[in-house]
Amino acid sequence: MENYDIVVIGGGPAGVACAISAHNTYPAKKIAVIRKDQIALIPCGIPYSLTSLSGVDDDILPDPLVQSNGGDLIIDEVLKKADKILELKSGRKIAYDKLVLAVGSTPVVPPITGTNKEGKNN
Ligand SMILES: Cc1cc2nc3c(=O)[nH]c(=O)nc-3n(C[C@H](O)[C@H](O)[C@H](O)COP(=O)(O)OP(=O)(O)OC[C@H]3O[C@@H](n4cnc5c(N)ncnc54)[C@H](O)[C@@H]3O)c2cc1C
Repeated sequence: MENYDIVVIGGGPAGVACAISAHNTYPAKKIAVIRKDQIALIPCGIPYSLTSLSGVDDDILPDPLVQSNGGDLIIDEVLKKADKILELKSGRKIAYDKLVLAVGSTPVVPPITGTNKEGKNN
């Protein structure tokens, strides 16, 4: 079992910003960010609109952002949370004192007639 003072589930913009803020505020605390995706993207349309990206690699959120700010980056999926212990898909168990959920969101499709029809994205 691994132990952390602060665990952030989610390695998107919210999770990374939270881990950096936590490290800056509490530099002695042991922090982990758990992210289920191998690669974290910066899903922002603005650079595309401004055509300031030279390629898709420019849109990757750099992993060292977490590590250079005192956090451990764990690529795995959290499946279960009980008694301040997280169970990961790999079988790892992570104990925490404080937990932050930065897992993003799922858009709600409004109940508009026809949204379930074939070709709705065209
Ligand atoms: C195409 C597109 C264009 C956009 N353009 C803009 C823009 O121009 N300007 C703007 O301000 N916003 C834009 N957004 C919105 C912006 O991307 C989101 O607001 C932002 O990504 C939200 O960040 P987040 O960290 O809250 O969540 P997310 O980026 O969704 O990150 C969630 C994280 O949680 C992790 N996770 C979830 N469940 C688990 C689990 N069980 N175990 C481990 N990890 C887990 C995921 O791996 C991921 O790392 C755009 C979004 C899209 C899709």
